Amino acid sequence: MITSTDFCKVQKLDDDLYIITEAGLVHFYLILGEKKAVLIDAGFGFEDIRPIIRSITDLPVMLVLTHGDPDHSYGSEYFGDVWLYQPDYGQIMGFDTKQERQFAAELGVQFLKENNPEAIERFDSKAFAEKSLLRVLTPHFVKDGELFDLGGKTLEVVFTPGHSYGHIMLLDRAKKRLFSGDMICDYVIMYFFESDRNAPFSMALDSWKKIKRLEKDIKDIYSSHGQNPITMEWVDAYIECFSGEFQQNYLKDKPFSRGHLGSGYQHIYKTVNIQYSDKRLEEFLGHKVERIDL
Ligand SMILES: [Zn+2]
Repeated sequence: MITSTDFCKVQKLDDDLYIITEAGLVHFYLILGEKKAVLIDAGFGFEDIRPIIRSITDLPVMLVLTHGDPDHSYGSEYFGDVWLYQPDYGQIMGFDTKQERQFAAELGVQFLKENNPEAIERFDSKAFAEKSLLRVLTPHFVKDGELFDLGGKTLEVVFTPGHSYGHIMLLDRAKKRLFSGDMICDYVIMYFFESDRNAPFSMALDSWKKIKRLEKDIKDIYSSHGQNPITMEWVDAYIECFSGEFQQNYLKDKPFSRGHLGSGYQHIYKTVNIQYSDKRLEEFLGHKVERIDL
């Protein structure tokens, strides 16, 4: 088994579960059945990850995306066929621009500078920025509750809009594992985009409540960023936060800027860490937000 490459670290978590971490930033998961394997997300695709997968299994691999953000979807260029929830195909196409790819390429270069400088000459950041997914992908649209039969293992699609309009999680009820994408993370979640990219907070809250109702079938939560596995406590914190704590305390939040991505405020409560715009907050509160800037 390949355990590391220029950009990726690979770890076996169980006989049927592998985690691949790209650029120290994003995790994707390889889940093995008897007849088929599912890859949950494909990362930035700074390098071709198929050799990593082939070093683990010969099974046919089906790529399922939790959502369409670049750190999850650019790597789908190596697979062609991709399963996702419909609105996030729009998300993928929205990010399929030279400017967005250049921004991602800079992250890749930065990671190598800090962690693996002798690999910089092997990463063609210019060529990376020139690529496009438009004519490469064949999307297959999934439905809430749809089951993927891997042979001796079933993964269930759980539609959980919030971080994006078409965000999904995947549930392995037999193993009590939930693959939560960017909707449940021990990491900052971005909510500062305008309404075409992130869904309203009210939809995210509904999604967290939906996961809470599945509690008896979930023990370990594997997210796309930060520490793994996490637990239902993270879900409880989101629900508490958006059910009243956030509404009470948002005026204490500190401003932040994320360069070309935007700027806004950051809210931290227990394990919740979100960056948001006042426009999205106003939509949630139903009234104007007045801040006294110091
Ligand atoms: Zn992400």
